[in-house]
Amino acid sequence: MLTLRGIVKTYGDRRVLDDVSFDVPPGRLTGFVGGNGAGKTTTMRIMLGLLAHEEGEVALDGAPVTANDRRSFGYMPEERGLYPKMKVLEHIVYLARLHGFSRSDATERATALLEQLGLGERLGDNIEALSLGNQQRAQIAAALVHDPSVLILDEPFSGLDPLAVEVVAGVLADRAAQGTAVLFSSHQLDVVERLCDDLVIIAGGTIRASGSRDELRAAHSSRRFELVSSGDAGWLREEAGIHVVEFDGGYAVFDADSDEAAQRVLRRAVSLGDVASFAPQRPTLAQIFKEVIQ
Ligand code: ADP
Repeated sequence: MLTLRGIVKTYGDRRVLDDVSFDVPPGRLTGFVGGNGAGKTTTMRIMLGLLAHEEGEVALDGAPVTANDRRSFGYMPEERGLYPKMKVLEHIVYLARLHGFSRSDATERATALLEQLGLGERLGDNIEALSLGNQQRAQIAAALVHDPSVLILDEPFSGLDPLAVEVVAGVLADRAAQGTAVLFSSHQLDVVERLCDDLVIIAGGTIRASGSRDELRAAHSSRRFELVSSGDAGWLREEAGIHVVEFDGGYAVFDADSDEAAQRVLRRAVSLGDVASFAPQRPTLAQIFKEVIQ
């Protein structure tokens, strides 16, 4: 398990990270979410030892991370850095060789990985001849080719079309299933919500929420309910103790001041017609995000 505890980073007299602590467990996909300038890249660069910090610790399985540990980390930086004139397969083989693999092992791994990422037809093309989305797939291959134990990716999904998002997400989920600790940053809340087991939300250099996606959704559930009934639910507007959020004929979403108010609404809905469903509504990541960054 990779852990950050109390990380502080300043630029001049500006604190850009303040007491940043969270975990990146093996075998899970952790999404690192925050707006522009929130501190995601800075945090990742500190995890990788590319940037110094003033306070706090990055630890792997309880011991401070060493340069040797970091050799088994994989990183995809935000600024893409492959050699444009190199051929796709040749490039990934070259990187695998730098990690100590023999030529034949390196070629085998690089080929399999590029095929998995959907670049099997482009192995002989120059990097610069690839579309930006495909260059990004190659960049992901570069971060993965040595089977890292910890994988840190800065915005791996930005600029990818939906099909490519699915391919890359599948590859990352595969790695997590094999026991890799995977952290990726993203500002695309829908993508993160769909893919991640765990979430870390950062704003203004502080961690606003972290934990499993399901725990976070449960913790941020208010008494919001969704009612689907056969009749017109307009009467809800007159009910005491509730606040209607959305309304369309027999469909309504409302916040209740108390469980008692919610139960009263349910009883009344049943007495007025058929109730197709009545259920508490879990907040979306976008709603949680809005709530915690305020
Ligand atoms: P994110 O990746 O979430 O967009 P960053 O980690 O890049 O955010 O930036 C966090 C904050 O640190 C921002 O306010 C940014 O302007 C500031 N920052 C980043 N790099 C530098 C630097 N080299 N010098 C001064 N300020 C910086």
